[in-house]
Amino acid sequence: MTWDAELTRRLAHRHADNLFRRRITLTGAQGPRIVTDEGSYLSFCSNDYLGLANDRRVIRALQEAADQYGVGAGAAHLVTGHQRIHESLEQALAEFVGAPRALLFSTGYMANLGIANALLGRGDLVIEDRLNHASLIDAGLLCRAELRRYTHADVGAARRLLAASTAERKLILTDAVFSMDGDLAPVPELVAMAVDHDARVVLDDAHGLGVLGAGGRGSLEHHALTAAPPVILMGTLGKALGTFGAFVAGDEALIETLIQEARTYIYTTAPPPAVAAATCEALRIVREEPWRRERLRDLVRRFRRGAAELGLPVADSDTPIQPIIIGEPQRALAVGRGLQKAGVLVTAIRPPTVPLHTSRLRVTFSAAHSEQDVDQLLDALSGVMNDNH
Ligand SMILES: *Cc1c(COP(=O)(O)O)cnc(C)c1O
Repeated sequence: MTWDAELTRRLAHRHADNLFRRRITLTGAQGPRIVTDEGSYLSFCSNDYLGLANDRRVIRALQEAADQYGVGAGAAHLVTGHQRIHESLEQALAEFVGAPRALLFSTGYMANLGIANALLGRGDLVIEDRLNHASLIDAGLLCRAELRRYTHADVGAARRLLAASTAERKLILTDAVFSMDGDLAPVPELVAMAVDHDARVVLDDAHGLGVLGAGGRGSLEHHALTAAPPVILMGTLGKALGTFGAFVAGDEALIETLIQEARTYIYTTAPPPAVAAATCEALRIVREEPWRRERLRDLVRRFRRGAAELGLPVADSDTPIQPIIIGEPQRALAVGRGLQKAGVLVTAIRPPTVPLHTSRLRVTFSAAHSEQDVDQLLDALSGVMNDNH
């Protein structure tokens, strides 16, 4: 078969299985109301949990820094791409999460790959929750260590994998808040287990940072833990912080090792300094405006109450990620299309992003939503779910 025929055949299969993915093209800023090339919608599918992606103050910080630093960093951090503002952001992030040091990465995906790549090699062991984000799975696959996966949140299974291994170095990788389910990993148990087995545990707090804990310090604050061994914290800046990028926080030796050895840190252009300046401002807002987290919690409570009254199959989650599990991709797409007709946008998430037979509408909330927005979503869901039994 020629390349072209083979690719065409694969695409046709995707279509037939209702697994073909399409991009929605936005023509304006991220927010509760978005404009796409098909219309304008009340949207419940961003990770902009605190409503900072389009905040005037964050925008101004970016503009002013662009005037000062230009746009591109122009080089990798270890060449001439490392700016004072990157350094300031690293210090602010370390202080925020209570770690000795933090290191910026261009994306969360790259941070996860970089951690595993720098710390592990052949003969080592990685264990992962089955529902981990793709970037953690890829981190495990690419680092050349043995990769074993345990049943979602099954601490006993994880412990057996560690106990059975004779590997010298053992690393546990987990989402701290599961990105497609919204539930929390059994973090205290995993940390205790890591101590027992002289392992380290990477907590990917993409969906906890800024959202969980009274101060928004994320999953560690929620569980009353710190970013000290055995914990390695990975946080992303493109979600609750509303900007772009990621960081790893931990002890001095860890961070210095990442600078020396993480290939996704070394061999890539440093993030634009103006984005770092915008993130500094976003972090200030995360600290100083706890009402955003309170609003978010109130909206989630309101949604869960309404969804329970309607008998909607909402997953067991207290975070702003509130998936409605539908089952087969075809039906998830139909429900998504029905909502879109009602002016509400919630994207259908299908395999392989989620396991087979668990296609879902991943509803997410933002502090920028209003109570009326939540009610409009519930009204739309009530109509559309009835039509799509
Ligand atoms: C979004 C996400 C990432 C990737 O972060 P980016 O900065 O978008 O690359 C990593 N882990 C989890 C759990 C995520 O949800």
